[in-house]
Amino acid sequence: MDYQQLADQLFPDVTDTITDLEKRYPSRDLAEGAFVTRLGPSPTGFMHIGNLYTGLINERLAHQSGGRFFLRIEDTDHKRYVDGAEEVITDALAYFGINYDEGVFQDGERGAYGPYHQSERAAIYHVVAKHLVAKGYAYPSFATEEELAALRTAQEAEKADTGYYGKWAKDRFLSLEDIRRHLDAGDPWTLRLRSRALPEEKRQIPDGIRGHVTVHPNKQDVVLLKTNGIPTYHFAHVVDDHFMRTSHVVRGEEWLATLPIHLELFDILGWPAPLYCHTSHLMKIDGDTRRKLSKRQDPEMALSYYMEKGYHPTSVREYLMILINSDYEEWRLANPEAPLADFPVTLDKMATSGALYDMVKLDDVAKESLLHISEEELATFLIHWADQYAPDAALILAADKAALVRLLGIGRDGKKPRKDLVCAAQMLAHVSYFFDDWFKLEDPLPEAVSPTDAQTILRAYLAGYDGADDNSAWFAKVRDIATANGYAARPKDYKKDPDAYKGHVGDVSAVIRLAVTGRSASPDLWSVQQIMGENRVRDRIEKFLAHQV
Ligand code: GLU
Repeated sequence: MDYQQLADQLFPDVTDTITDLEKRYPSRDLAEGAFVTRLGPSPTGFMHIGNLYTGLINERLAHQSGGRFFLRIEDTDHKRYVDGAEEVITDALAYFGINYDEGVFQDGERGAYGPYHQSERAAIYHVVAKHLVAKGYAYPSFATEEELAALRTAQEAEKADTGYYGKWAKDRFLSLEDIRRHLDAGDPWTLRLRSRALPEEKRQIPDGIRGHVTVHPNKQDVVLLKTNGIPTYHFAHVVDDHFMRTSHVVRGEEWLATLPIHLELFDILGWPAPLYCHTSHLMKIDGDTRRKLSKRQDPEMALSYYMEKGYHPTSVREYLMILINSDYEEWRLANPEAPLADFPVTLDKMATSGALYDMVKLDDVAKESLLHISEEELATFLIHWADQYAPDAALILAADKAALVRLLGIGRDGKKPRKDLVCAAQMLAHVSYFFDDWFKLEDPLPEAVSPTDAQTILRAYLAGYDGADDNSAWFAKVRDIATANGYAARPKDYKKDPDAYKGHVGDVSAVIRLAVTGRSASPDLWSVQQIMGENRVRDRIEKFLAHQV
């Protein structure tokens, strides 16, 4: 058959050639060893933790090698299109600080290898499609849904592999005249690969993470262009990764099954394939089982979950690094202050069998990583988060930002700093007692203290309280109040002879803490009062007294 004639018939308007594209998208001028990587999310309206995990790997590999990292929007599936879905992608990457050099940004596209929306690259795919037809590697198929369903039934009856291939792929045998007749009748067609169905059993293919993977050669005449002329993932990503000059494709292991198709496409096009690097699924312990994280069952799968709770991007990146390279944690211990970017990410140290995703561990990492962020920055982060997720709170916090900074800073110095900050929503709850709008009595009096004693203690406290006292002068007064009212001056005195006392000094300070903060636990009480100021402290205690009577 005259394939060139068929190509002209199928793509009469395509005049560019592969050579034109090669010129338009030249090899990147980068140093030897620089990685070119990409993230290719589909705009489904949902970004998941796996996207971020892959995104961070790609970002690190490119930037640590002096290469390029770009964002391509894989929007060829109109059925899955959701309004605003693209912002979900760019906003999430911006929130978590996954920086890319080119592609689709919040304010539009930038870069010399675009367009970066697959939906805008039809002309490019059609040039390659026409080339494949002209070489005899692709053909139009007019098979209808019904015919394909019947084919499947026949194959199942014969226990043959299902799919469109070999003798079953009827349309590979159509003559030019048959094709013309279909086209003249306006029959919709897909463009299918004419697979070479190489006879080898299997071969070893290098994989950046797995070392090698064993693949059976492809035999399926897969669809390259759908009836609307839009490519499938298989075809689109091969064309894009070639002309965007991607060196490493880091993607999920769900793509291993179709890798043979992708390799065959690179092969017949005579293009060097990028080094594929298949990450393993993120797993979760669920009761006695270990299973894949699931969008349906696990709210922590969605990136929006972390944004709504206000996890600091540093915390999430830190945790992902631990999942990415198992020696990261050790490195971090030895280099507590170093920027994450100083750690060299290595592909061959990545998990090949499901890294365990654990929220408890994430929270621990968050507590630790927030210690390395100044309280000024944390306060700014919290207000910024509140602007979006708790606007009423944002106003209140911003009105007294200086106090907020000091509150977040209590107990963070010294050998055993408090690790009580996790994420913005929790920080807000953590400091809420301080702000009069949110103050509420959350806990009861300590068991050892009767309401009458509480009154006596607080009146004595008010009588002697001086905001200018330092921590030890202040505590000496609390201790005096304790002993004057039958409470031991030290917990250990009480333990030695519990019958001799009503309680100990801790119970007395707990009453003051309750009146001032509404809680039985708070950061260092003297520090809280210093930030609050004497008048407000007195005011809270007066209110407590009045309320209690
Ligand atoms: N659009 C594909 C996805 O969302 C991208 C896979 C790839 O990175 O090649 O899974």
